[in-house]
Amino acid sequence: MTSWVVANDGTGETPSRNDPGPIADPYTLVEAHTCPTSTCSAPAGSPCRTGRGKVAAQYHTARFRLVPQLAKALTVPTPPVRMPGAAWIERPRAAGARPRSGGAP
Ligand SMILES: [Zn+2]
Repeated sequence: MTSWVVANDGTGETPSRNDPGPIADPYTLVEAHTCPTSTCSAPAGSPCRTGRGKVAAQYHTARFRLVPQLAKALTVPTPPVRMPGAAWIERPRAAGARPRSGGAP
C-alpha cells in the first residue's frame, strides 16, 4: 500500500516512483558538467560565474538542466562553500584522475 502524501502545487503532476527525494548536494551534480551558457562556460568542478567575473549566486538554468534530477528545479543556489559574489577562479576538476601524494614526509 503506497500512500502518496505529497504537497503538490496543483500542477497535477504525479510524483515519480523513481524520485530519489531531496538531493543532499545538488551543486555537486551540477558541477559535474561544463556550463553550456556561452557567457559563463564554467568548467566542471567550478561554480557558475557572472559577466563581471564573480561567482554567480546560482547556477545557470542550462547547466543544471543537464542533471536529470534537477530538471524540474527552478533555481539551484550556489552553496556558501563556493563563495558566491567573490571573485571567480577556476577550481581543479574533482574528477580525481590525478593521484595525490600525501605530501607529508
Ligand atoms: Zn554557468
